[in-house]
Amino acid sequence: MADFSCQMCGSCCTGEGSVYLFPDDVKRLAKHFELSVQNFVDTYTSFVLLEVLEDERSFIYYPYLILKKDEKKSCLFLQEGVCSVHSAKPWQCSHTPFVIEFFEDKEWQVEVAKSCPGVAAMSEIDIARHHKKFIEDGGDQKEDEYFHLLTQNKFSLEIILSITLPAPDIISYNHNE
Ligand code: SF4
Ligand code: SF4
Repeated sequence: MADFSCQMCGSCCTGEGSVYLFPDDVKRLAKHFELSVQNFVDTYTSFVLLEVLEDERSFIYYPYLILKKDEKKSCLFLQEGVCSVHSAKPWQCSHTPFVIEFFEDKEWQVEVAKSCPGVAAMSEIDIARHHKKFIEDGGDQKEDEYFHLLTQNKFSLEIILSITLPAPDIISYNHNE
């Protein structure tokens, strides 16, 4: 039996929190819609700088494109409760609600279980099994790879994706988001 079974409730596609896109997500989704990367970015994303505390006195700012939402805070790609871009969905969505912090933080797990029936149904053994799979799948390396790409490209998504971007909004990294 699978250690995690998504109930397809759509709850993680609505509400607070954002879908952060990696450059390969952006290119895959643009291709899915048969749009240029620039057109896809202009139509479906917002540009943000994610402010993360680096040490006690300084921050580091990660540029990200995030998916836009509608007025009800639902992802624009959520249609009748189902993801309409399933075959091209972002890396984050393919792994939701599992991020490395989920496995390291019991409180995080409790919070997620409140809104995710798939997680609520998991036992401790299921979570441990899924953690192993997550590591084997390289899930904990994705952000490191992105950081490496940024350092090679002056921390610029405009360079990485060969596009132009508006001024970013700054959002703070928050463990509860
Ligand atoms: S909240 Fe959980 S069960 Fe519902 S769609 Fe998201 S991952 Fe699946
Ligand atoms: S891309 Fe699909 S899975 Fe991801 S938030 Fe939007 S509707 Fe949900």
